Amino acid sequence: MCARLLHRPSYLANLAIGLHGGCGTLARGLQSEAEWRETREHLAQALRAGWRLLIAGGSALDAVQACVVALEDSPHFNAGYGAALNEAAEHELDASIMDGATLAAGAVCAVRRVRNPVLAARAVLDDGQAVLLTGPAADDFAAARGLAMVEPGYFTTPRRVEALRVQKARAAAGTAAQSSEAERHGTVGAVARDRQGHLAAATSTGGFNNKPRGRVGDTPIVGAGTYARDGVCAVSCTGQGEIFMRRVAAYDLAARILYGGQALAAAADEMVFTTLRNHGIGAGLVALGATGNPVAPFNTLGMARGWIAIDGELTVATHRELHALGPA
Ligand code: ASP
Repeated sequence: MCARLLHRPSYLANLAIGLHGGCGTLARGLQSEAEWRETREHLAQALRAGWRLLIAGGSALDAVQACVVALEDSPHFNAGYGAALNEAAEHELDASIMDGATLAAGAVCAVRRVRNPVLAARAVLDDGQAVLLTGPAADDFAAARGLAMVEPGYFTTPRRVEALRVQKARAAAGTAAQSSEAERHGTVGAVARDRQGHLAAATSTGGFNNKPRGRVGDTPIVGAGTYARDGVCAVSCTGQGEIFMRRVAAYDLAARILYGGQALAAAADEMVFTTLRNHGIGAGLVALGATGNPVAPFNTLGMARGWIAIDGELTVATHRELHALGPA
């Protein structure tokens, strides 16, 4: 264990946070080095936003929310600003958040106006009357709670317009199945463990480029794309949502640990490299257990990801190699 940890109060030693920016990372040559650097900086900033709260004694729930808000505000990820467009060239955004201490959860799907969908999900959780709100009603709910609202065009970036054009051309040519993971989709998510040992998870996405209008993926479905339960795990998933829904993937990971007695890393690897790969999909996740460091397996070319481990060291990555950025 790192010497630095010896100088940290022991109650901070079990804090940890991890995130992903989707398993649909672009091939390295498709972005400039400056853009990759900025992508990594945004991952680090998101981690630090959550970590600051954890260090100050804040909850895992607030930490994952802060992380996901930062990623939603970055154009480099498919969530919030810079989210994918559906077949009608509209944004329909999904998000969820779950508190492992109480199993309270909140989610929204197909929202078009709330600037940060994860904040709407959190408002649903806090309100407590529902777990999942849909479409215009979810946007109205967010507006009534005083959350920042935007015109739908706010979420659009030139990259997403181009991605839609490419996907439509592929669909017309009958080659949509050959699209790269990056052309298809992406998502953001975070997991955290706080001073009390509580776990939380949150996920937010634009879904996939050229998705059917009204399509809802795994991201806002508790147990499919997001799950957190104290003493077991917190997990946020990325990949073709329909398969995650059919496998109830996030909950399945928890069940492997809770009922199957598997260790987190082994269960996460089996989920990504065997169970989901057998469906022929690109997949990834970030997960955190009751103790120890986050794990972030993926079976694609790359997955934007990062974590602050229990020794306080911050690491980010977009492809295979890791960038160790030192103490958080
Ligand atoms: N899981 C997301 C969805 O299906 C997409 C992704 O993570 O790439 O909406």
